[in-house]
Amino acid sequence: MLNMLSEVDILPGIGEKTKADLNRAGIFTVRDLFYYLPRDYENYQNLTHISDLHPGKVSFIGKIVDIETKNARSRRLSITEAIVSDGDDSVRAVWFNQPYRATQFKDKNIEYLFSGQYELQRGRYQLSNPKVEKATAVEEASAYAGKFQPIYPQKSAIKPDTFKRLIFHLRAEFAKIPDLLPSLPDSSSFAGKNARRDALYKIHFPENQSEADVARTYLSYEELFELILAARLNRNENKKLTARQIPYNNDAMQQLLKSLPFQLTQAQKISAWEIIKDLEKKTPMNRLLQGDVGSGKTIVAATAILQATKAGFQSALLAPTSILATQHAEELDKILSPLGVKIGLLVGATKHKPELKSRIKSGEVDLVVGTHAIITDDTQFQDLSLCIIDEQHRFGVQQRQKLLLKAQDFAPHLLSMTATPIPRSLQLTVFGDLDVSIISEMPHGRKPIRTKVLTEVEQRETLYPHIRDELNLGRQAYWICKKIEDGHSRDSMAKQETISVKRQTEKLKTIFPRAKIEFLHGRMKPAEKDEIMAKFSNHKIDILVSTTVVEVGVNVPNATIMVIMDAESYGLAQLHQLRGRVGRGDFQSYCYLITSAEQPTRRLLEVEKSTDGFHLAEVDLKLRGPGEIYGSLQHGALDLRIASLADTHLINLAQRHAEKISQNPEIMIKYKELGQGIKKYQQLTTLN
Ligand code: ADP
Ligand code: MG
Repeated sequence: MLNMLSEVDILPGIGEKTKADLNRAGIFTVRDLFYYLPRDYENYQNLTHISDLHPGKVSFIGKIVDIETKNARSRRLSITEAIVSDGDDSVRAVWFNQPYRATQFKDKNIEYLFSGQYELQRGRYQLSNPKVEKATAVEEASAYAGKFQPIYPQKSAIKPDTFKRLIFHLRAEFAKIPDLLPSLPDSSSFAGKNARRDALYKIHFPENQSEADVARTYLSYEELFELILAARLNRNENKKLTARQIPYNNDAMQQLLKSLPFQLTQAQKISAWEIIKDLEKKTPMNRLLQGDVGSGKTIVAATAILQATKAGFQSALLAPTSILATQHAEELDKILSPLGVKIGLLVGATKHKPELKSRIKSGEVDLVVGTHAIITDDTQFQDLSLCIIDEQHRFGVQQRQKLLLKAQDFAPHLLSMTATPIPRSLQLTVFGDLDVSIISEMPHGRKPIRTKVLTEVEQRETLYPHIRDELNLGRQAYWICKKIEDGHSRDSMAKQETISVKRQTEKLKTIFPRAKIEFLHGRMKPAEKDEIMAKFSNHKIDILVSTTVVEVGVNVPNATIMVIMDAESYGLAQLHQLRGRVGRGDFQSYCYLITSAEQPTRRLLEVEKSTDGFHLAEVDLKLRGPGEIYGSLQHGALDLRIASLADTHLINLAQRHAEKISQNPEIMIKYKELGQGIKKYQQLTTLN
């Protein structure tokens, strides 16, 4: 049997040089190499005659009879056009930005194999960006590799064809690949024994597309299984820890509810109750409180903080920005200090820090609200037993763990909060170690935000008059731009330049001369940011032009208009979150998505259609993958090789299987490779 974790040079034919090349491309082990998968296949099975071409993927053999390169209107685009003939008929082939093509085919007598997309473009049929190989080379290759051949992605300096040759010559080694998983679910269609070796062989060397598809399904399954098992094991490990038990204090709870100017929604009550139940236990809570923007998560967190305080323990609330931390501290102060909770705000700009820190250490402060400043080494607690992380995806694994380590003898209860809805598939996989509470309804009386996608040229007619009206009514607006200032980067050569916060501010001052307009961005000093935000909150500013720093949490109920420039460059979840800055009071609110494209994309139209953050997250997951949605996973670490987190059927199957295995984790000692894969995922997903 092969040890898949050995270095690549144990494989026959791989010497020092190849090894060095592979290492440079990030391929170290046999496993890395065998899991370097084709991105597609070339189907030489169905060679056609040019006269029989149908739209779609086609392959045929022909000679180039004419070829030339033109520069298109924009100097950045070149078009190379060739006429290809097979003796009976001819067809136009077109390459974009590959001017070298024109000199590649000097000899008009050589036969080439063309494969690519045959399609209608600007009223004419053409073969777009075809791949071209010498027909003789194809014949040689198909003699040994069959007519269905893998196309590998390029990686650093290693060309697709180099991978093809390299992996092809290792064919015989595939029979030595050991199974990865201790068992397979009975209900699955995977062959039990040797499932992995078969799948890997067939994904590299399939006879046809359906063989490749079956192999891919199995390999996806493996990957999902590892991910889910990792989350399960994390959950089990968390259960072994001991937390402070926080007994339920009904009097305090009733006092809090009575003091509120509103009634909790049913969903808020249920979530609060689930949290209270967790706090009573000896094992630490690890719960995610999920609720759309404006659904009222803060008050639910407040109930937990109150319980901890009444039991004599400290709490910490970590927020990603000082603006947000300050707002939380103010709001919680209003709600909780009348009930005897002492609150300290610890952000970068906090004055008299040493004094505050000593009050935290002595236990005088019951709740510390703050930013990263809380997790610096010299902040010590007396008895921290409840940690709350707002907008949890803004924090990395390490930051979360640093906060948890502030507790001494006991593991703290952890409540993570997020407004970015986590689709069920992610809940089962990446977030599988969490319990989840969902605030599924909005407080009564909220009016859904009206959303409209506009192109840049439509602003003048539609948007400006509307803004004038709202300003006259005494409302306020946010205006979001991508960049802080106009750069002199190479970008500025591009035709569609994104407008900067500073330029937009100037522009708006001329359009709305009577309005008070200021800007805000992440590179300002924290104190400056807080000042601007406070001015906006007190209506000393009418239009706030900003980068996405206002994305998280801030609450200005008088703001009714949200304009987002270059909207197509954001993820749907992010657009939804930004939109959630308005519609937080009694007034009808509006969101305008301005696109610099000629046509709004399907993604933007989804945001126009739906105010359901859950639905949008699902769409985003399908269109852009998990990394884009989940900030902390953006390091690319969770780039699943094969599996799609949208594949709920496989996820369910893998989940049941992982559940079983997680009950006797000793098995991992025997299955070293599995153990190693899982460890990686465990670190990534721990306490998500
Ligand atoms: P988010 O879930 O986005 O963090 P917040 O906790 O900031 O939302 O709450 C948004 C606003 O809704 C706040 O002004 C809060 O006081 C208010 N709110 C919360 N719960 C209710 C409720 N049940 N009824 C009415 N207003 C509520
Ligand atoms: Mg919030």
